Amino acid sequence: MQRTFPRGGGDIPHRKSATDNKPIVVMPAPAIAVIPLQQHIGAPCEPVVAVGDKVKMGQLIGQSKQFISAPVHSSVSGQVLAIEERPLTSGAKTLCVVIKNDGRDEPASAEKHADIRKLSASTIRQAVRDAGIVGMGGAGFPTHVKLNPPKPVDTILINGAECEPYLTCDHRLMAERADEMVQGLLAMIKAVGAAKGVIGIEANKPDAISQVQAAIADYDQLSVAVLQVRYPQGAEKQLIKAILNREVPSVGLPHDVGCVVSNVHTAIAVYQALSAGKSSYERVVTVSGGAVVDPRNVLVRVGTPIEELFNFCGGFLGEPEVLVCGGPMTGPPIKELSGPVVKNLSGVLALTREEAAFDENLPCIRCERCVRACPMGLTPNLLGEYSEKGMYREAERLHLKDCIECSLCSYVCPAKRALVTWIKQGKAGLAAEKAKEKVS
Ligand code: SF4
Ligand code: SF4
Repeated sequence: MQRTFPRGGGDIPHRKSATDNKPIVVMPAPAIAVIPLQQHIGAPCEPVVAVGDKVKMGQLIGQSKQFISAPVHSSVSGQVLAIEERPLTSGAKTLCVVIKNDGRDEPASAEKHADIRKLSASTIRQAVRDAGIVGMGGAGFPTHVKLNPPKPVDTILINGAECEPYLTCDHRLMAERADEMVQGLLAMIKAVGAAKGVIGIEANKPDAISQVQAAIADYDQLSVAVLQVRYPQGAEKQLIKAILNREVPSVGLPHDVGCVVSNVHTAIAVYQALSAGKSSYERVVTVSGGAVVDPRNVLVRVGTPIEELFNFCGGFLGEPEVLVCGGPMTGPPIKELSGPVVKNLSGVLALTREEAAFDENLPCIRCERCVRACPMGLTPNLLGEYSEKGMYREAERLHLKDCIECSLCSYVCPAKRALVTWIKQGKAGLAAEKAKEKVS
């Protein structure tokens, strides 16, 4: 039986066929790696290397003393050319360590464990922290913090839904490296003292489902939940409801209902950190969209300029209409092609005019399609209207903060209203208003 969440949601075009059956390919490391010192939610890192230093692949280059942070490592061996502000894909600048690759891939020393099942919970948590692992599905939340939950946790969920159009990196990882994901999941279960693990996979990935089912065959505490193909099945609250029938409270977190949710790639990174002492310096990125010559899933080093990643896939077919980081429903636009690959970048898309949806902002016709589609049971038409007009308190009374920004309301709106853009503005406006009140 396929599981799903109870309200709202919808069917959207999947557009995954360009990459979902192609094996992951490895991209050569860049000649110059530009590695941001903040690739995570939490405190930015301070550099622990200086200009002119020689570094090895996997060597620590940035660290923070704060608990909610994640260290940063070099993705190449070579020499530090600069430590300076460089643009990210969003166009915002941040402090980066710029490293000239010597082409040797000389590895830093690493602590390896032949049998990770013998490791203690505290050793696992520390190794995950030292490796700089963050949520690789897009959130970028430090994984060691998730593995120290403030409340008892009985279940770890692996989010293999990958419900966003185009993205297939998790699909390919499950199809090709299910054993590593399962070992990472078992380690996370041990780290939090949970009793079981469930891997949720949408039904449109049959090869991934069969590989993962084979990989868990020897473990009674693990199971696969086959999920209905329905957007946004991979949103955390919807995933938890579908698999465990638990409702995360308003502005609550998964540990409030006894679970931790991890991404597929993150679980593999945990396994690699424990078994091979590998730090988080490379990842698989889906490169797709109708304006890409040869769409692929690419294993790429952190710090590689996005432009080089597109070029590795043959470059563009004409001028793309829109460039996006992540999936098209929730991902931000790419404003700077020299911006680097970071740990939580799941995809880069180059979309044609036909593929890109445009906000036209015609008058609302009160059809309530957005209300029926909202997986959080909200009234997006009113939230959008109040937010656009700066009526933040009114929007707050309609549970503005519960919006998970899935964009489904904007997608189904026949008037092509920019509901989610206004809602995001509303959240920011409300936060600013409250901060001002605190000061005065
Ligand atoms: S973006 Fe927010 S308001 Fe719109 S459908 Fe998703 S959860 Fe509902
Ligand atoms: S879907 Fe669009 S037109 Fe229909 S009620 Fe919602 S905002 Fe208005």
